[in-house]
Amino acid sequence: MKFFDPTAQFRTIEKDIRDAIEQVLQHGQFIMGPEVEILERQLAEYCGAAHSITAASGTDALLMALMAYQIGPGDAVIVPSFTFVATAEMVQLLGGTVVFVDVEAGSFNINPADLESVVMRIRREGKLNLKGIIPVDLFGLPANYQAIEAIAVAHDLFILADGAQSFGGSVNGKKVGAFGDIATTSFFPAKPLGGYGDGGAVFTDDDQLAEVIRSIRNHGMGADRYENVRIGITGRLDTLQAAVLSCKLKVFDSELIARQRIAERYSRELEGIVQTPHIPSGYQSAWAQYTVRSSNRDAIRAHLESKGIPTAVYYPRPLNFQPAFALADGAMSHMPVSEILSQEVLSLPIHPYLKEDEQSKVIEAVKIARN
Ligand SMILES: *Cc1c(COP(=O)(O)O)cnc(C)c1O
Repeated sequence: MKFFDPTAQFRTIEKDIRDAIEQVLQHGQFIMGPEVEILERQLAEYCGAAHSITAASGTDALLMALMAYQIGPGDAVIVPSFTFVATAEMVQLLGGTVVFVDVEAGSFNINPADLESVVMRIRREGKLNLKGIIPVDLFGLPANYQAIEAIAVAHDLFILADGAQSFGGSVNGKKVGAFGDIATTSFFPAKPLGGYGDGGAVFTDDDQLAEVIRSIRNHGMGADRYENVRIGITGRLDTLQAAVLSCKLKVFDSELIARQRIAERYSRELEGIVQTPHIPSGYQSAWAQYTVRSSNRDAIRAHLESKGIPTAVYYPRPLNFQPAFALADGAMSHMPVSEILSQEVLSLPIHPYLKEDEQSKVIEAVKIARN
């Protein structure tokens, strides 16, 4: 059994993928070829954002968004303490200060009540110039944007929505990519919409921000390639990846349905045995991960491993306890929910091509391990 199986998907869309790659090989525009613009139009239409700017990775997408906001020394940006490293890393890379806020036990996402009290404290202290918030849609479930937006508006903060794990997710029909002032996602192979290498995208409705990000993506270019109006990076998505992602986007909705079906089955069968994920009404997760909680996590994990069932622990340590973030606000301080989650979370296999008998095997093994 595989935790993640890109080859199973490839077998179902092989001809389409081979044709798309062949076309790129024929025209030879490997950088910013026509497939890039086509994919950008498809992605924008899919999630309902005015602009979609593809990127070399989800990390570069975050970096370029923060560069567009001109984050630098003295500036502070709020990040949840329970997320993948990249979310906080790009703030520090630009010389900004990360301010950690704990997450909610139910959603694994940033806790709006804690967020508000931290915003008040940072403003009261007056040492850092607090600029924005990066909510993360952990494991595919969108954050509580309604509550976060109210706080952002009241305190004049930007929202940069890190949807690296949640492309395809939604809240009351509004899709990930359309939340926040800017949203980003990742096409890392294991993400819900994964390519055959690194990739990502930035989404926004703001014409000016979109123009700045497009410029940053290509060395800060101005009217033409040899006018440099700002400092930028090489943040472009390869044409080959764009061609592959367009093929994968065609089957993406059916894959989301498959993930949803597996999640529902797991939740039905594992309810009461481990703590199953809670999806608030109106919310749709992209099910990047199906993550349960148990005080017996390590024993369950060992039993599943002995049965040949792969699992993962995202994340074994809250970011505020990572040495890389020693200078962050909240470093080494008590974040009770993140701490307990890091000890109790366990992600089970949930890729769209996981067979029913494989799902049964997972369920059976969790039940036995828990008894
Ligand atoms: C994967 C991920 C990223 C980074 O995406 P890459 O494409 O791997 O650079 C950023 N944030 C979160 C929450 C992620 O899960």
